[in-house]
Amino acid sequence: MLYKEFKDGIRLSRLGMGNMRLPQKNEPGNPIDYEKAKEIIDETIRLGVNYFDTAYIYHDGKSEEFVGKALAEYPRSSFYIADKFNFQAQPDYRIQFREQLERLNMDYIDFYLLHGIQDNFASAILASGCIEYFDQLKKEGKIRYLGFSFHGNEENMKKMLAAYDWDFVQIQLNYYDWEYGNQRRLYEMLTEAKIPVMVMEPAHGGLLARLNEKAGALLREADPQASLASWAMRWVMSLDNVQVVLSGMGELSQVTDNAETFSAGKYVSDEEKALLKKAASLLRPDIAVPCTGCCYCCPNCPQELDIPVLLTAYNDAKADGAWRLINVTGLPQEKQPSSCIACGSCTEHCPQSLPVPQIMAKMIRMMSSL
Ligand code: SF4
Ligand code: SF4
Repeated sequence: MLYKEFKDGIRLSRLGMGNMRLPQKNEPGNPIDYEKAKEIIDETIRLGVNYFDTAYIYHDGKSEEFVGKALAEYPRSSFYIADKFNFQAQPDYRIQFREQLERLNMDYIDFYLLHGIQDNFASAILASGCIEYFDQLKKEGKIRYLGFSFHGNEENMKKMLAAYDWDFVQIQLNYYDWEYGNQRRLYEMLTEAKIPVMVMEPAHGGLLARLNEKAGALLREADPQASLASWAMRWVMSLDNVQVVLSGMGELSQVTDNAETFSAGKYVSDEEKALLKKAASLLRPDIAVPCTGCCYCCPNCPQELDIPVLLTAYNDAKADGAWRLINVTGLPQEKQPSSCIACGSCTEHCPQSLPVPQIMAKMIRMMSSL
């Protein structure tokens, strides 16, 4: 396993275990399959992973408890826990943090994050007083390093960076979003600020481990032995300012494949980078909605909906599951897809004539199942 120095002599494994897609039992409530999930944790430890990421809301609040139990037999100093404060689920940060330590059955959290900052609540969380409180916990040793995970725009990233001297930041990063999202700019902002980056969604919720026929054929031809996922992982781990790459491993085969990738240390060459850029372009037509975020439609929407943001959430949900729309349910009612009056003005102004009203209707249906 490759390791990278973080600070204070801490060496983090380049591969981190994400605990949001653990194996579940096929019974009411879909509880975590403890035996299978524990096997995965044991295997990651055996292969050298020392960074375990969880959150208050993963697996309906059961992920933290599972992680605490599964790691209990290992010395506390041999692994690092990353856990997150979810402002939308429980705005009282004192209550939530206390509950998290109880669920984990631990005295401190190594890496603590404000969870999934989005544009619609960035200002509110900054004004909530939670940062001051967590900073105090840091001084008391209950939190070792403080950061945030982020899904917003550059303006709000700037606000977040100005608010505190963060130890690390977690963003979604992969070779597809690098070309078609705002992630490249976010990564550059963090690098300029000298803040180490933890990466989530290195395979875009599994999309880059599946690809489509054309993109898959391109990569298989270049290296018949390499898994599609390994290409995605290698691309991310080759970025200089990336500290840990998180993978939500739900199967032992994923652990084996990822561990191989993160042990071999085969960084992508310039030629391979160009190949992955080509694969991303071949994949693009198959993305549910190929919105470019140009915003030509925005000023023409009588309901003032943030159309590209909603379409990004829809793409995430199609690639990763309807749960990705949870954040949309947190938007003010008048900003949600249900406010669309199907006037069609967006389609008219869209360079790609995207059927936005129909997609809004689909989102409403998907959200009703949450
Ligand atoms: S169809 Fe809906 S999203 Fe499009 S412009 Fe009209 S109200 Fe806005
Ligand atoms: S005009 Fe079309 S491509 Fe541009 S942001 Fe709107 S929906 Fe997306």
